[in-house]
Amino acid sequence: MGVAPATLQQPRASGRVGLKPAPFDYVRAESLEHALTALAEGGEDAKPIAGGQSLVPALAMRLVRPSLLVDLNRAGLDSVSANGALRLGATVRQAALADDERVHPLVRAALPHVGHFVTRNRGTVGGSIAHADGAAELPLCLVALDGTVVVDGPDGRREIPATDFFVTHFMTTLRPGELVVETVWPLVGDESCAFEEVALRTGDFGQSMVCSVLTRDHSGAILRAAVAVGAVTDHPTRLGEVEELLIGSRGDETAVEAGALAARLVDPAGSLHASARYLRALTGTLVTRAIERAA
Ligand code: FAD
Repeated sequence: MGVAPATLQQPRASGRVGLKPAPFDYVRAESLEHALTALAEGGEDAKPIAGGQSLVPALAMRLVRPSLLVDLNRAGLDSVSANGALRLGATVRQAALADDERVHPLVRAALPHVGHFVTRNRGTVGGSIAHADGAAELPLCLVALDGTVVVDGPDGRREIPATDFFVTHFMTTLRPGELVVETVWPLVGDESCAFEEVALRTGDFGQSMVCSVLTRDHSGAILRAAVAVGAVTDHPTRLGEVEELLIGSRGDETAVEAGALAARLVDPAGSLHASARYLRALTGTLVTRAIERAA
C-alpha cells in the first residue's frame, strides 16, 4: 500500500503563514547510496528534500515535522538520457524540460502551468512525481504517456508503471525508505496530443486539467487513445471508457460525446471556488477541447 507522507497536507489548504519549521537534522547526500543510507538510519521521521517548493512551505507551516532532512540536490540524480525513451533523473529541474526537444510535446505544453517560472527553476521532476498532488501536471502527463517511475530503496530498484504509482492525494506506492530516482517518458512518436487546464489564476493548481494523446492509422482513424484527467480526481486518472469510445473514430465527430461521458465519469468534490456541478461540466468541456485539438 502507498506511503502517505507524514501528515503532509497541501500547504495551500491552510492560511497560516510566518511559522518556522520544527527543529530537524540535515544531511546533504553526496550519492544515491549516501541518501538511502541516511534515510534508513533516520527511520520513518526522515524525509528527502529536492527542490523544496512543496516541502519548505509544509515545514514552515509545521504541516510536517521530520527529524531529519536528506538533501538530494547533490546526490547525482540529475542525469538526462534518451535511448529509446527519455530517462529523467529525479532532481532534473522542471524548467530544464522547457527547451529540450527530446521532451514530449504534451509535457512542454503542460509545463507553463506548473507553478511559476521561479518555482520551476528549483522544483524537480522527481519531487513533483513523489509529492503526488492530485492537481499536479507532471504526474498527469506521465500517466497519459504511460510513463514509468523508477524507485530505489531497501528492496532494491523497482520500475513502476505510472498508472500503478499514484494512489490518492499525496499517496503513492513508494515504500518506506524508497526514493524516486528516475522517470521514464516516451520519445516523440507519430501521435498527436493536447493539454487543457483551467485554474483560478496563472500559476495556481488547476481546477480541472486534461491530457489527450491520439495515435491514428493512415486513414485518420484512431487506433489508440489516452485521455487522462486530474484535479477533479484524487490522482491522475485515465478515462478508459472515453478512450474506447474514440477508437475507430476520427475524434472530431466523437469529441462532444466523449466530453459528455467524461463529465458523467468524474465525481469531483466542490469547494468554495467551484461547485461539483461546475467542475463536472468544465471537465467535459476540456475533454472535448483536448480531443478536438489533438484530432
Ligand atoms: P520538494 O518540495 O523538495 O518535496 C516534495 C515532497 O516529495 C516531499 O514530501 C519530499 O520528501 C518528497 N520528495 C522529493 N523528491 C523525492 C524523491 N526523489 N523521492 C521520494 N520523495 C521525494 N506544482 C504543480 O504541479 N502545479 C502547480 O500549479 C504548482 N504551483 C505551485 C505554486 C507555488 C507558489 C509553489 C511554491 C509550488 C507550486 N507547485 C506546483 C509545486 C512545485 O511544482 C513543486 O516543485 C513540486 O510539487 C515538488 O517538487 P520539489 O522538487 O520542489 O520537491
